[in-house]
Formats: sequence, structure tokens, C-alpha cells
Amino acid sequence: METTVRTMPAHKHIALVAHDNRKQDLVRWVKENQHKLQSHFLYATGTTGHILSKETGLAIKSLISGPMGGDQQLGALISEGKIDMMVFFWDPLNAVPHDPDVKALLRIASVWNIPVATNRATAKFLFESALIEQEVDIEIPDYQAYLDARI
Ligand code: PGA
Repeated sequence: METTVRTMPAHKHIALVAHDNRKQDLVRWVKENQHKLQSHFLYATGTTGHILSKETGLAIKSLISGPMGGDQQLGALISEGKIDMMVFFWDPLNAVPHDPDVKALLRIASVWNIPVATNRATAKFLFESALIEQEVDIEIPDYQAYLDARI
């Protein structure tokens, strides 16, 4: 697959997702990083977004709840280049009914090369990086070249 470059803006579109057993961890992490997060555009799956807005007062665009289609909505936004990074505290110790959607979301985030933090340590490294406040070029699949090659 040929690649091209997408420039992420300084004010990023950040997705926040947590499985039920990880929601309080994410609430705590968001509160710790609230001053940084408030200069970006925040998205979340339904229940995560509802809890985070209530507990932090941050403006968050809440999608549908994950098991009801929210993970797929997020995946679609990532494919369209509308999400720049994701903090996804998924639960590695319990099965969830929408496991296929979780896999699909993590897969599509890799396809489009967005930074993904699945635990606090990775989230810390991402948010302590100077790049969080800067424009950043990332390599992405060249979809137009992909189409052209198939004619
Ligand atoms: P929720 O979904 O925020 O609606 O709980 C999270 C998920 O499981 O993707």
C-alpha cells in the first residue's frame, strides 16, 4: 500500500473510551490531564462520554454506547481522518459482548496510524510529549493511489 501524509492539527480530535471496569480509571486519568485535554476536541462512546462530562464538566461529543454501535461509529470517524488519537482503556481481564467491534476499532486505528493509548503509562507518554500541542505529520494509506491502482 502506498502512503501519503496527513497533518494532525495542534488542537486534536481525541477519542476517549473505557470498558466498564476501567471507567473510573479513565475518569481519574481525565481529571489528572484536564488542563491539557480542554484545548482539544473530545469524543467518547456513549456511557464513557456521559460519565466523563458529568464528572469533569468537559465538553465531549458522545457517540452511541460502545456495545450498541459506538465503537463502529468511532472506527468510521477514524477512517475519515476525523480522529487524531485515542485513549482506550479496554478491559484485558474480562470478556465483553462486543469483542468483534473492539477488535475492529483497534484494527482500524492501526490502519490509519493514529496514536492509541490502551493503558495509563502509554497515555502518560503521549500526553507528556511536546507533539500533543503541535501540528504533526503522520503517514497514512494513500487511498486515492489504492483506487487508481485498481482501475
Ligand atoms: P461505553 O462503550 O462508553 O458506551 O460504555 C465503551 C465500549 O465498550 O466501547
